[in-house]
Amino acid sequence: MDITTSNFLYLLASICFIMALRGLSSPDTARSGLAFGVSGMALAIITTILAPSVMAGSLFGIVICIAIGGGIGYIIAKKIDMRDLPELVAAFHSLVGLAATFIGMAAFYNPEAYNIGIPGEIHMGSLVEMALGVAIGALTFTGSIIAFGKLKGIVSGKPIVFSGQHMLNAAIGLAMFVMIIIFAATESNFAFLMIILLALILGVTMIIPIGGADMPVIVSMLNSYSGWAAAGIGFTLQNNLLIVVGALVGSSGAILSYIMCKAMNRSFISVILGGFGGEQAASSVDNSDKNAKIGSAEDAGFIMKNASSVIIVPGYGMAVAQAQHALKEMVDLLKSEGVSVKYAIHPVAGRMPGHMNVLLAEANVPYDDVLELEEINRDFKQTDVAFVIGANDITNPAAKNDPASPIYGMPILDVENAGTVLFIKRSLGSGYAGIENGLFYADNTMMLLGDAKKMCEGIIKSIEN
Ligand code: NDP
Repeated sequence: MDITTSNFLYLLASICFIMALRGLSSPDTARSGLAFGVSGMALAIITTILAPSVMAGSLFGIVICIAIGGGIGYIIAKKIDMRDLPELVAAFHSLVGLAATFIGMAAFYNPEAYNIGIPGEIHMGSLVEMALGVAIGALTFTGSIIAFGKLKGIVSGKPIVFSGQHMLNAAIGLAMFVMIIIFAATESNFAFLMIILLALILGVTMIIPIGGADMPVIVSMLNSYSGWAAAGIGFTLQNNLLIVVGALVGSSGAILSYIMCKAMNRSFISVILGGFGGEQAASSVDNSDKNAKIGSAEDAGFIMKNASSVIIVPGYGMAVAQAQHALKEMVDLLKSEGVSVKYAIHPVAGRMPGHMNVLLAEANVPYDDVLELEEINRDFKQTDVAFVIGANDITNPAAKNDPASPIYGMPILDVENAGTVLFIKRSLGSGYAGIENGLFYADNTMMLLGDAKKMCEGIIKSIEN
């Protein structure tokens, strides 16, 4: 295949990726977005394999590697539980970072193969691209592993902070910068290895101080880094598609991180620097002397059947219990009784962006019934019942009332404004951010203690009877 044809096919693949991002931005176009993404990737891989720079002798090895990688990816994707997706995404990002680092190393040690000069005389532009590619790649690699560990619970989700931490990070960053300059000027092997080593360390020290509640932003930020690493390597390999795709991933990840920071009312800088404001200040809320009102499925069924409007607030616990189908059945039953029902989605409900939307779509909940925080928050005041199913932090009024709370400033769903608040969860314990929720003890709250799916099934029975 000649270079003009391959560039044309790369352009088509890039358009497919742009269409994929466009499609994936809304649940009703997500399937076509996915189809564009898969087609673009297939086109990109086939065009790359048939490129003139790929020697015929390498084809067999490439196909074997694609089969092994694709096979492993297929098995993991088939087996993965929806709840484990965020950590899987973090784990996959670590591989993107590692690949970028390896490609940068391959280009440095065998520049002839990449047409960027001969050892000792590599073009300076390529040296800079290579240095940035391996630096971002190595940082993404270890950073993603720590994010994976935090989300999986292997590493503590609490911020790991020590004095002088920010100075240490700044010193490592500065040392890396100096090494990049030395490397670009002298092509020194020592400087190259130091860049990789410092970036590997920085990935760890940058992510450990970041608290669990900020992890969604970090996962999307690492996604962005992996894109920039790929774009950097695209320049080294002189591969236009890699540059375009890397820039798409890098910028979309950065935009998503920004949107999430806004949703959590966090400053982007304080999140990525980690530990700033993430310290667990002692909450001023003490609920030890209060009693929660505990209700049953029958109580909930009675209250909701006699309500005229209900807003459902799903959270992580719905995903754990896989309660979305039972919930949909319960809502259909309420609607048939003449109750108006809507769903309210918080931007960081669950454990990944869009987590609740995916689960509700899986249960065939109509998109028109699903509203974002800013669209529905004002409606709680005129609503009879807020039905909170497996959610906690995203409803916690401490985010508004308690400056000492680690989630202070995060916008929440104002469920407390509804006539009655029903909370399904298994205990009075805390959620992801590890803080108590005073709402469990409010006069208009009734706790429905139990597994979300079983509780919904109990409510269905009670409404039917
Ligand atoms: P939370 O983690 O705050 O609360 C979930 C609640 O579900 C828990 O308190 C738990 O209580 C309950 N629960 C667990 N299992 C079940 C079950 N089987 N049946 C019923 N209830 C159950 O979740 P939210 O969705 O309210 O908030 C999301 C949190 O996660 C935020 O702090 C956010 O920052 C963070 N986060 C979000 C990410 C994202 O991208 N969306 C990614 C990573 C973190 P109990 O144990 O008593 O049952």
